[in-house]
Amino acid sequence: MKKYQLYINGNYVDPAKGEWFDSIDPYRGEPWAKIPRGSAADVDAAVKAANEAMWRGPWSKMTASARGKAMHKLGDLVAANAERLAEIEVRDNGKLMAEMLGQLRYHPEWWWYFGGLADKLEGSLVPIDKPDVFAYTTHEPVGVVAALTAWNSPLLFVAWKCAAALAAGCAVIVKPSEFTSASTLEFAALTKEAGIPDGIFNVVTGFGPEVGTDLISHPGVAKITFTGSDTTGAKVYETGARSLKRVSLELGGKSPNIVFEDADLGAAAAGAVSGIFAATGQTCIAGSRLLVQKSIREKFVERLMELARSAKIGDPMAPDTNIGPITTPAQYKKVLDYIDIAKAEGARCLLGGKPASGAGITGGQFVEPTIFTDVVNTMRIAREEVFGPVLSIIGFDTEEEAVRIANDTIYGLAAGIWTSDLARAVRIPKLLRAGTVWVNTYRAISYMMPFGGMKHSGLGRESGIDAVREYLETKSVWISTAQGAPANPFVMR
Ligand code: NAD
Repeated sequence: MKKYQLYINGNYVDPAKGEWFDSIDPYRGEPWAKIPRGSAADVDAAVKAANEAMWRGPWSKMTASARGKAMHKLGDLVAANAERLAEIEVRDNGKLMAEMLGQLRYHPEWWWYFGGLADKLEGSLVPIDKPDVFAYTTHEPVGVVAALTAWNSPLLFVAWKCAAALAAGCAVIVKPSEFTSASTLEFAALTKEAGIPDGIFNVVTGFGPEVGTDLISHPGVAKITFTGSDTTGAKVYETGARSLKRVSLELGGKSPNIVFEDADLGAAAAGAVSGIFAATGQTCIAGSRLLVQKSIREKFVERLMELARSAKIGDPMAPDTNIGPITTPAQYKKVLDYIDIAKAEGARCLLGGKPASGAGITGGQFVEPTIFTDVVNTMRIAREEVFGPVLSIIGFDTEEEAVRIANDTIYGLAAGIWTSDLARAVRIPKLLRAGTVWVNTYRAISYMMPFGGMKHSGLGRESGIDAVREYLETKSVWISTAQGAPANPFVMR
């Protein structure tokens, strides 16, 4: 079993307290790696190294173009190591190799894109409204960044956060989820090989309430970027606020996927399945509320059931598997509890609704793809994030009703619309309170497209040019060119 070390100041080191914990393979249900249990002393070492490296070390002296080139090289190295890193992620989170390999092969794009952006972060010359002044703005790195990530796509979140942060000139300390730390620790070595100076990329692992809290409350951290649940996100926001840190949050969702009667029903059924059963429903953008126009409900649900029934459950490494295990025992229990809650609330179970069993299924953390109908939007199954393969079907009659139900949630991460009516396709995105709206597609992401949530789904955006602003401060510089006697010092200039 591999025993990992923390990555601080360009070196792999043992945790200060000398403690490790097991990482469990969710498919086999057995430990496969030992992860360091970091503590406040490790956080302190990482934060000191990061501040030294970014403010006084080589990173501060490198041109933005040189920084970008190192980031570009890092992208190349991830591309060369995609398969190895994807395998590690599958061992840790049990998601499909097809999904994780796809993510890892796409991951380099963030380094290439943000590496290219590093030397284009121009300030501006301000044609100031006062005589004898030369005025301009610059954009400077906000400071050391604490990046906390969730277990469902560990290295994708590293790319989303760290590529933008490094482009801005920041240094980062990543605290991956305690369930999936191995890939981030392996990735760290590539940053050194790429020529990113020691201290600019650090990884401290351990438990959220322990080392996670130590990290986000450390006075040497200027900015927190967090991906996780809204409950933890609120705590992180509160802790950050105490020392006035900049905070951005990528949180959960209860996203509506809306099927209108004029939709291509085959495409919509595939979109509904990809919305909820891909990644075993363990995705923030899960289209967990399927709003279906009542006029087509029966025939649409038939098509959906046919597709859902054909999903193969089993070994996440096998290329023909569609649905893998639930990542953690706690999450597995939570999913089964929600199934019981839905049944007790009066939702009708059309498919699944129990643990999966059979050939190729081991370890016990498998749930059948589950579809509930007759769901009312006030039920807990329609309001709370399950984070598993559980779909709630809600009927609607009119477009207005669909929009009202879609927006009747504390969340606002994403939404899907299925229609062949062009005017409707243009009209509805504007009415939905969600950070991303997909029309006739679902679960598409890109390094160039901003991603983030409204309402309880988060604060700030990742990916796209705007993302880098999350890691920058604007500085305004005034230079007087005045000659002669000084102006009256007792009035504002
Ligand atoms: P989580 O909130 O339990 O943990 C996220 C991270 O925070 C982990 O690294 C964890 O160790 C750390 N943490 C936990 N408690 C902490 C504390 N008190 N102080 C500091 N750090 C703490 O989330 P999870 O279970 O890992 O991930 C699932 C959640 O993440 C779901 O709600 C999902 O919707 C959300 N998510 C959102 C996005 C997005 O981009 N919007 C993407 C993926 C997942």
